[in-house]
Amino acid sequence: MGLATAPKNDANTLLSYSDIALYEAKRSGRNRDALFSPEMDAKTAASRSMLEKIRRGIDNGDFLPYYQVQVNAKSGQVVGLEALARRASPGGLRTPVDFLELAAMNGLLEKLDDMILRKVLLDLARWTLADLDPPRVSVNLSAARLEDPTLPQKLARLAILKGRVSFELIETIFLDKLSNQAKANIAAIRDLGIGIEIDDLGSGHASLLGLLELQPDRVKLDRLLVIPAGHSVAPRTLVSSLVQIARALGIEVVAEGVETEQLADTMAKLGVDILQGYAFGQPQPAQEIVSHFRSPDPTIGMCNYAALD
Ligand code: C2E
Ligand code: CA
Ligand code: CA
Repeated sequence: MGLATAPKNDANTLLSYSDIALYEAKRSGRNRDALFSPEMDAKTAASRSMLEKIRRGIDNGDFLPYYQVQVNAKSGQVVGLEALARRASPGGLRTPVDFLELAAMNGLLEKLDDMILRKVLLDLARWTLADLDPPRVSVNLSAARLEDPTLPQKLARLAILKGRVSFELIETIFLDKLSNQAKANIAAIRDLGIGIEIDDLGSGHASLLGLLELQPDRVKLDRLLVIPAGHSVAPRTLVSSLVQIARALGIEVVAEGVETEQLADTMAKLGVDILQGYAFGQPQPAQEIVSHFRSPDPTIGMCNYAALD
């Protein structure tokens, strides 16, 4: 419910203010009320303008993947990349904090995810053409997209090479309460040779029963669990237990938020298979991430982007 007051006889303003308050109430979690304030008005105007930019960004193809390396905890070899969405804007590069929530609230996340996946596939094709040896790429998949009954057909049309791509299931995907549609889509994704990963394990969304049922290829430990494991015993014990559970189920474990060499060392000792974080590199654009790839011949390590466009 949105509550507002307005000057006498000004029904339009009253409606508009109460609408803004209603929007704010919904934004802060539904099932509540909010009282209009001038700050709310300014915030709503800013959100509207940002939403407009997101819409235009989707139409113009301004969203693109940046890539962050994932390394084998024992050998240090690059074994994967995570694709992270960015928006190119005249004011510079925007990160998900600026657009993800608004896009999700306005039903735009599926389009955004689709654009990122297509661009990842294009980058993979370019790298392969340039005789580079790109590792597997993990792409984030929103809950909304997982519910789309046409997802398998859409993915099949993209002719994704088996083993090249995996999907990270994120946000509020409650593993033990997956809808039949989501389950069917996950099975279809698997049949297409796309891997399944559970993101942010340890942050509360994923249940052990769900894990058992889903049998993902990899789980990613949330950085809110990984970072404190560097200096406290309790989170370290939890990481070690999760590693044991995953091992027993034949699931690989990725630690994210590995910011220091020391933390990398700790995670490796705890049995984590793959490490991702600032200690190994920031998310980088496609042109720059290639410097991390193994190349069969160093002289063909250069990918001429302009020529391939
Ligand atoms: P995430 O999937 O958990 O991705 C990891 C986030 O941690 C990224 O933030 C990454 O830049 C950041 N990060 C990487 N290494 C470190 C580190 O060592 N320390 C710290 N403190 N942070 C690190 P980013 O790129 O801002 O993305 C934020 C979130 O937005 C992602 O969290 C993911 O949930 C979502 N997201 C990103 N791209 C997409 C996308 O294409 N589709 C969807 N649906 N969601 C996306
Ligand atoms: Ca992720
Ligand atoms: Ca994560």
